[in-house]
Amino acid sequence: MVSLKGRFTHVFFDADDTLWENEQFFRDAEKEFADLLSDYTTALDVQKMLWQKQEENIPLFGYGSKTYMLGMTEAALDLCGGRLDDHIYYGIKDIITRLSYHEFVLIDGVEQTLKALQGHYKLVVATKGDLTEQMAKFRKSGLERYFHHIEVLENKDEKNYRELAAKNDILPEDILMVGNSVKSDIAPVIAIGGTAIKTPHEVEWVHEMMEMPQSDRVIIVEKIEDVAKMLI
Ligand SMILES: [Mg+2]
Repeated sequence: MVSLKGRFTHVFFDADDTLWENEQFFRDAEKEFADLLSDYTTALDVQKMLWQKQEENIPLFGYGSKTYMLGMTEAALDLCGGRLDDHIYYGIKDIITRLSYHEFVLIDGVEQTLKALQGHYKLVVATKGDLTEQMAKFRKSGLERYFHHIEVLENKDEKNYRELAAKNDILPEDILMVGNSVKSDIAPVIAIGGTAIKTPHEVEWVHEMMEMPQSDRVIIVEKIEDVAKMLI
């Protein structure tokens, strides 16, 4: 195992699907949505339409369940011929309510990893999404005590990572980012000279899929506990 000991002062952690489960609940919601519209069209068409609406709405309204609700409503309108029955609208609202208040599931090994790193490094959450929702999840997680602070970014691109570095008084090449998404947590950090640790996650979001950049600054771990082993 590669040692990163002594090279970094800060460790930045992605939140969704790195610290706690997230994507699976969106997938469940998609399935429920397809069931709701099963009298009108196929599950595949529902999914395609929902993805298209998400692509349109995320740049305008950001990430999170409210944008998802808008996307589902618009997809249902298009797929139901321009009219929405009230049972479809309230069915969508029920799906989004369940999505927003689902059981909170921490990923195995997260807490012991943070506990091990705390005191040795400044730990920062770098997540993207709806500010209210991400802060609520963070409070619910019980992980607040391990982190110096939380950064909720509008998006995780090169510019925002540069700003994140500046805000923490470090250089972009001194960023060490830990996360499950190649697109959000790995590629932009590598592009600005930082180092990234890719954690595993079974469920990948279609908007997050991209090829892993070829760099010796990308480290792939099998479990999050390996992060502490490399750093201490
Ligand atoms: Mg993530």
